[in-house]
Amino acid sequence: MNFKQVIGNWIFEPVLSFIAPVVCLVCEEPLSSGAKIVCEECYCKIPRIDKSFVKKLKEEIPNPNFDDLIVRFEFDPVFQKLIHLLKYERFTSIARLFGQSLAEFIPLEFDLVTAVPLNPVRLKERGYNQSALIAEHLSEITRIPFDDTILQRIRNTQTQTKLSRAERQQNVKEAFIVTGKVKGKRILLIDDVITTGSTLNECAHVLKAAGSDRITIAAIATPVDFLQSDATDNLASALPFQI
Ligand SMILES: [Zn+2]
Repeated sequence: MNFKQVIGNWIFEPVLSFIAPVVCLVCEEPLSSGAKIVCEECYCKIPRIDKSFVKKLKEEIPNPNFDDLIVRFEFDPVFQKLIHLLKYERFTSIARLFGQSLAEFIPLEFDLVTAVPLNPVRLKERGYNQSALIAEHLSEITRIPFDDTILQRIRNTQTQTKLSRAERQQNVKEAFIVTGKVKGKRILLIDDVITTGSTLNECAHVLKAAGSDRITIAAIATPVDFLQSDATDNLASALPFQI
């Protein structure tokens, strides 16, 4: 079964489900009843990130303005496929899967959950912010109130893919402003992928400057290669496509 057929089955699932099985969008094998998007086998294949790696990642972020960091998955080929489908093929229900997978690891002591604002040009093109969708689903599960009005991206930043860590920090500097009441609030800030953490850290910086009490940043995945290989100034090689 080719990819077009897979897409066709997914889109017309309510009509075709009695004649065509719904298939996993990663391996294209039929899904068991009740499963959606990705089969259990593919989902379980995505390597989980352990606490020692998160600690190391946090230590690599200079002048952290956040208090805690949570990362769920390794940016492996299965995750890459899923995030690509979510961002570029409009499979927005994948955000639900990611929201669920993150919710299991989130303590409940937050006043609100928000997401890193998308570049306005990209938001207009795509029509949605995938990180905000993930945050919304997480909010539904955890009951932590979702608020995507507290942060705004006030200038377009160039794509970070080919930039070094230092260039990324410079690229996102003063790119965000706080547009809501955050004083004394404990905030959970969501992004889909974390690499150097420059964007998330800049968001945390403005939120802290506006008086927020505590910031936890949470990302669905991180590419582990760039940290393990000490090639932090050559991120492009670690990232197979633009994130
Ligand atoms: Zn599969």
